[in-house]
Amino acid sequence: MHLQSILTSNCTHTGIKKKLVALSNKKDNRDLQGSIRSIINHFWFSCAACGGSTEQLTQRWTSLLHHVCGEHEWQEDGEKKRCFHAPLSLDDQLRKRWLQPNSQVFKGLQAIVMDKRLLKDLQQLTHFKHTGALEVFHNAMLKYLPKRLHFAYGTMDARTKLTGTKLLQRWQRAGSDCTRNSKIQSFI
Ligand SMILES: [Zn+2]
Repeated sequence: MHLQSILTSNCTHTGIKKKLVALSNKKDNRDLQGSIRSIINHFWFSCAACGGSTEQLTQRWTSLLHHVCGEHEWQEDGEKKRCFHAPLSLDDQLRKRWLQPNSQVFKGLQAIVMDKRLLKDLQQLTHFKHTGALEVFHNAMLKYLPKRLHFAYGTMDARTKLTGTKLLQRWQRAGSDCTRNSKIQSFI
């Protein structure tokens, strides 16, 4: 399970990124290019923070579809749901470029996020919390986002991106080919 989880997470991450890049390369979808890194970071953050629960992981991951439209609280199956980030200031809310729910780019993103195979893979990824690789991620998050401190949204966003960037650099050094086991293991 250990190695399988690592392989699954690496393949999933690579798969999501490839699809996002392909989507953002289409005419009229260029706005998405600046958000790819944040979406990938959100994927890792969802894995790290799900506490081993598939339901939590799915909820965190799919909350992205509300967030990208500027909706941070919504009703789902008769329950009130909200994004997992700290509340945004009015300035943040007004400054960000949100997607329109009826736009082509949003529909493309929705297809990627809700992909049946990906949602099935998330079940594997909850086990990933037990691996050293996720501990690395956790530690990196704690380094840049200590739990005892409260950060404004802008700072939190920047620090999350920094964590993701550092880990992605490390990941890239380890190799992105999900079939090259030895290199993936060296990530840990
Ligand atoms: Zn949000």
